Amino acid sequence: MTAPPPPQDSKPKSAPQKAMEKLGLLRDIDLALHLPMRYEDETRLAPIATLREGEPAQVEGVVVDCQVELRGRRQLLVRMKDESGTLLLRFLHFYPSQQKQMAAGARLRVRGEARVGFFGREMVHPVVKVVDDDTPLAQSLTPVYPASAQLPQAYLRKAVASGLTRADLRELLPAGVVPRGLPSLKEALHYLHHPPPDASQEALHEHHHPAWHRLKFEELLAQQLSQLQAQRERAALVAPALRARPGGLHEKLLAALPFRLTGAQQRVSEEIAQDLARPQPTHRLLQGDVGSGKTVVAALAAAVAIDAGWQCALMAPTEILAEQHFRKLVDWLQPLGLQVAWITGSVKGKARQKMLDAAASGEAQLVVGTHAVIEDKVRFAKLGLAVIDEQHRFGVAQRLALRNKLKAMDLEPHLLMMSATPIPRTLAMTYFADLDVSTIDELPPGRSPIVTKVFADAKRDEVIAKIRGAVGDGAQVYWVCPLVEESEAVDLRNATETHAELSAALPGVSVGLLHGRMSPADKAAVMAQFSGGAMRVLVATTVIEVGVDVPNASLMVIEHAERFGLAQLHQLRGRVGRGSVASVCVLIYTPPLSDTGKSRLKAMAETTDGFEIARRDLDIRGPGEFMGSRQSGAELLRFADLQEDAPLLVAARTLAPRLLDEHPEAARRQVARWLGTKAEFLKA
Ligand code: ADP
Ligand code: MG
Repeated sequence: MTAPPPPQDSKPKSAPQKAMEKLGLLRDIDLALHLPMRYEDETRLAPIATLREGEPAQVEGVVVDCQVELRGRRQLLVRMKDESGTLLLRFLHFYPSQQKQMAAGARLRVRGEARVGFFGREMVHPVVKVVDDDTPLAQSLTPVYPASAQLPQAYLRKAVASGLTRADLRELLPAGVVPRGLPSLKEALHYLHHPPPDASQEALHEHHHPAWHRLKFEELLAQQLSQLQAQRERAALVAPALRARPGGLHEKLLAALPFRLTGAQQRVSEEIAQDLARPQPTHRLLQGDVGSGKTVVAALAAAVAIDAGWQCALMAPTEILAEQHFRKLVDWLQPLGLQVAWITGSVKGKARQKMLDAAASGEAQLVVGTHAVIEDKVRFAKLGLAVIDEQHRFGVAQRLALRNKLKAMDLEPHLLMMSATPIPRTLAMTYFADLDVSTIDELPPGRSPIVTKVFADAKRDEVIAKIRGAVGDGAQVYWVCPLVEESEAVDLRNATETHAELSAALPGVSVGLLHGRMSPADKAAVMAQFSGGAMRVLVATTVIEVGVDVPNASLMVIEHAERFGLAQLHQLRGRVGRGSVASVCVLIYTPPLSDTGKSRLKAMAETTDGFEIARRDLDIRGPGEFMGSRQSGAELLRFADLQEDAPLLVAARTLAPRLLDEHPEAARRQVARWLGTKAEFLKA
């Protein structure tokens, strides 16, 4: 095998080179940071007699005989021995050349897992090297890298070894700032790629070794630096200063609301108002549990922006959610003389053009919609504030598109993001370090707590009887059908069957059906019937997941609850308990339950507190999954573990501002070394 050419080479690329590119192994430093997942020990030889079943080992000996035999199938059998005993090597696939190499008298160094059977010790398809009696043993453990079919281990080993020698691993950090006891980056990487024979495989595997700690620290530092840079870049941008006028729209809206703000709503509104009044773009996350009343806070912020002569855009991840916002905002704002436009994928033709014109001319002061709002064709005359609901449900690319679109204007708009999924503390310190956070930690008064009950599917009839009772008492009911991710068709069939089942079991009760395949107009019609009260039971797929607001609905049944994620279950449950009637959420599961399934349902039954749910969710899933695969930014922390490495995170967080101020060039290199082109993603 030839040594791989440098990755920057412009010659046609070989399959392994392409495979390396796919793994993101482009620069020398990327190769140097491609760490082994485990190691093989070729530094010592075991006497054949000590081989034990299933244990990998390396032995050396001389071939006694070598022949092809037909034992059921053609195979090459090589018998070798050392001073302690004999070992049979068995090859089911082999080349004639191998037979020659391993002829009687040849000295072999063999590595593999032994089997100890009736006929003695044997290895099937071991790795074999022909050696002399003075061929030296490996000086360090042999790295095994994450590879792929197109990327053979041997090729990758060479590529990494040469990347490691070529990469610029100079110390970038000034003396004395690295946590005590950690080696330099260069030492750490050399150690991890080629650990000495006596290295603790356990410390390596569990990432406890100081070399690992150095690496994690470097990574966390790069991440903190890049966030801090983004924050400072943003602070240098200019946004319109939006101040609420006495007697202005903001006050009028407050006076017109059918309720008083909770203390928490007042507090976060005040925090947001202070942001808006500054000539730097707001970058704030408003978090609050489902039903805590975030929409009205967004509407108040919009009122401030509009009153100051600017436009506001509000985006939601789904049409249903966008439409709920739209209705509510129209209810609140139209009586005050404001124009609200509506842009989603399903608004087409003339209607769409009218909306686009209204946004572009500034005639529409508020534009509500789905991600269609960030499409190229949508222009704003004067966008002052963008609100993104359920921001984590938008992908990184979409958020970048939004950012870039907004950037095209003279002045940067303010950005307010909303989420019902609170960010756990360690995540807030890393991925969201660049974000100001306001939290609504109080529900509007008069809500009655939701009682959650868990039933096995066998008790379905009991659940249906409960529904009959609830409807008889004047309540409305949601029945949510399972999510089968792979197949929308199965989703639909389940929902349709359940709809038929409930219609039959509840004569005289109007039972409706809502699913993702319906046209937006049909969905809207069903939602209108349900919120108007004409329809008493709504069977739905997860299209109702977020934002639906029908205060009279007080019973929710979630079928196959074990298939939903914890955050999703919590969101769904938040659809009930919005009125003053005591609400119940019934989780139906089909046994057997997995361990995670069990802990999810248990969490749901034990608490209705969104923060507690988020904490348990993080425990169950870990941060990468918690953030969702769409947030590919989550993959950026390859080495550090946010829970375990919290002390390193704190150290990196403390060092970052100092480094940026006192050693800006070192800070820049640190970020480039670690994040390369990915740094952009962190800003989303
Ligand atoms: P979420 O935070 O989940 O988006 P919403 O904004 O949809 O919550 O509010 C949930 C419900 O509570 C809505 O019907 C809303 O009008 C109502 N609401 C909001 N704030 C208050 C309040 N201070 N007092 C009473 N009801 C409120
Ligand atoms: Mg909401």
